Amino acid sequence: MTARVLVVDDVIQNVKLLEAKLSSEYFDVLTAMNGEEALAVIEKEQPDLVLLDVMMPGMDGFEVCRRIRQNPASSHIPVVMVTALDQPKDRVAGLEAGADDFLTKPVQDLPLFARVRSLVRLKVLMDELRMRETTGMNFGLHIANDAGKNINLSNARTLLVEDYARVAERIKRYLDGLTRVDIDAVENGEITTEGLEKYDLFIVSLSLANADGLRLCSHLRSMERTRHTPILVLVDEGDDAQMVRAMDMGVNDYITRPVDSNELVARVKSQIRQKRYANRLRRNMKKSMEMAMTDAVTGLYNRHFLSSHLDNLMSPENDKRRTVSVLMMDIDHFKPINDKYGHASGDEVLYEFAQRISDNIRSIDLAARFGGEEFVVVMPETDLEFAYFVAERLRKSICNEPFEISGSDEPINVTVSIGVAISGDKNLSSSKLLVAADKALYQAKETGRNRVCGYEQ
Ligand code: GH3
Ligand code: MG
Ligand code: MG
Repeated sequence: MTARVLVVDDVIQNVKLLEAKLSSEYFDVLTAMNGEEALAVIEKEQPDLVLLDVMMPGMDGFEVCRRIRQNPASSHIPVVMVTALDQPKDRVAGLEAGADDFLTKPVQDLPLFARVRSLVRLKVLMDELRMRETTGMNFGLHIANDAGKNINLSNARTLLVEDYARVAERIKRYLDGLTRVDIDAVENGEITTEGLEKYDLFIVSLSLANADGLRLCSHLRSMERTRHTPILVLVDEGDDAQMVRAMDMGVNDYITRPVDSNELVARVKSQIRQKRYANRLRRNMKKSMEMAMTDAVTGLYNRHFLSSHLDNLMSPENDKRRTVSVLMMDIDHFKPINDKYGHASGDEVLYEFAQRISDNIRSIDLAARFGGEEFVVVMPETDLEFAYFVAERLRKSICNEPFEISGSDEPINVTVSIGVAISGDKNLSSSKLLVAADKALYQAKETGRNRVCGYEQ
């Protein structure tokens, strides 16, 4: 996976060095030598990642990072702080300023490539989710576009996989107040904790006595219910090989022993925030999909969805398009129900009506709310005789059992008129087919309601 990386440093040798390293791994490298220049390049070039020196004359790295975060056009771009001072305080200050990660100088190749790849991978995923969120907003779903700034971190839960009790207790203490930590000591070489889906984060030791930590990580990655949960691994200082393998298999972050409490807190916080933000994007996405396709009162597909579905069925490429049957239904004298019992009771009738339709069609059939009290059922590969049969069954399911509504002590009688049409050789477009069914419905209304009529070709 290639990406555009911006290297920012006030010392030309440092810039050249990082540029050479990254270019050798086929990253596209942009450079800047001070804060202002960096912000200008970011604005213009929209890199996928920024490697940012902390100590620079004028605007320092922390300030540049804060400005990147404040600007909605750049707030989603991952930032890695590169610090000369091997000071935990400095690293944490970077994460607090909104950086996603940090590296210490002299920058080692393996940690550099591992972190860059992992952040680029994350960005690709987040870009995709954010794009879908925008699509959702275009469909009218209101979403606060704050690029994940207002993420609630309360009630976070972490599972710590560590069989060395003293270390486990110490880590738990470090994280006190940020997240509840459950400890799994991998008794039989396996994670024994139940309900893994409730965790916001897994912290996995790669120096377990009784289990292979990497294998546990790959297992957590492959299971559906933990696939999206971040994993932070604990690696022994200098064990780059383990760290690189872990990051390559999709572990999100690592921390080296001995564990520094500030660094741990900062990394855990950042992982939980990231996960909750991604979850929110996924949830919004699902909601906007549902909103875009379904009708809120009945839960059936809406007219918009019906149209595209029917267009697909009737496309010339579909060799079954001559056997698509359609039922057009309209509740009889629905207006008086509204007038007598109120609009809310009218909605209850619509809901119950939709339920009865859904209960009486096959799973390959599609029911949609076409408009007010009009509904359509589309039945692929269905001849006219069978379509009549279904229509008759639907009609009876409505009139045979009165509807219970909250506006009336007595159940009320409801009936429906249904028009049936088949595509055949004549109605070979979705609009013609719907018009034919509508004409048949009109006949049903004209000839007394509570009946099924077919369209005479
Ligand atoms: P007909 O037998 O000829 O179909 O008579 P009708 O009264 O059913 O038909 P008409 O078209 O005159 O009235 C339809 C009514 O449906 C009018 C409208 O207020 C009501 N309606 C449309 N959408 C909704 C809705 O979402 N909820 C409720 N409660 N009523 C709705
Ligand atoms: Mg009606
Ligand atoms: Mg009507």
